[in-house]
Amino acid sequence: MISQIALIQRIDALLPQTQCGLCGHRDGCLPYAKAIAEGEAANKCVPGGQPVADALAELLQRPSLKAEESVWPLQSDGRPQRMKAIIREDECIGCTKCISACPVDAIIGSGKLMHSVLTDLCTGCELCIPPCPVDCIDLVEDLNSLPNEIERTIEQNDLRQRYYAHIQREETRRLQRKGPVVRAEIDTALFAQFSTQLDSVPVIEVADKTPTVTQQDAKSTIELAKLRTQIKKLEKQLSVREDVTKRAQLLTLTEQLNAWQGA
Ligand code: SF4
Ligand code: SF4
Ligand code: SF4
Repeated sequence: MISQIALIQRIDALLPQTQCGLCGHRDGCLPYAKAIAEGEAANKCVPGGQPVADALAELLQRPSLKAEESVWPLQSDGRPQRMKAIIREDECIGCTKCISACPVDAIIGSGKLMHSVLTDLCTGCELCIPPCPVDCIDLVEDLNSLPNEIERTIEQNDLRQRYYAHIQREETRRLQRKGPVVRAEIDTALFAQFSTQLDSVPVIEVADKTPTVTQQDAKSTIELAKLRTQIKKLEKQLSVREDVTKRAQLLTLTEQLNAWQGA
């Protein structure tokens, strides 16, 4: 009996690592692998097509299901046509939005400068297309020969490694609030957990930038705000008409505020 983590890794090893989210899992292959291990149907990987659906059915000893269809025609290996993105560079305004969107860091360029796709690395996932404000990214057929099984494994391992590096970089950018936000935040915790299990990917460190406001801090802040409001109210009333009781209240509250602030 293998552990749940080992099972998720074996499922993930069969997925293409395109990280496109077409299976319905926005954050890519690993969350879908986890969902499959928990019982989700194993035929939803669109770029993997029937070969991946069948391989998963065999691994999990489940009945083989018809794979979700792609909009692209099938290649000779039974998978949908591989695609590549190309930027029409003379139209690019250098906004950098596509860089953050690319899960495998296949786009180079910097602010206000023309961007280019490193076509060898591009998986045709299409994630860079919607964020481009000037619609200058095209998809074209990948004319390279199809990889054999060994080449495919190497490619998938490389894409996985690049995606983990991308997640770590985006996590850092999120904390430093640099660059445009073009994609909902990735659930980094799951990837961080698996990054410690695999030698081939960088370990992802999840940093929490949320200031540590303890319940006591929050309570104190509310109490202080209430005190200040009461003091202001009394001061206003006393500026209109003197009142001994209110003056005494004001004195007590002011002493309380001073003691609290000095604490
Ligand atoms: S490659 Fe397949 S499993 Fe990975 S995100 Fe895309 S559809 Fe999902
Ligand atoms: S360049 Fe675009 S299509 Fe290619 S991998 Fe990156 S996001 Fe996907
Ligand atoms: S999103 Fe479009 S315009 Fe912006 S840098 Fe990328 S290709 Fe250029």
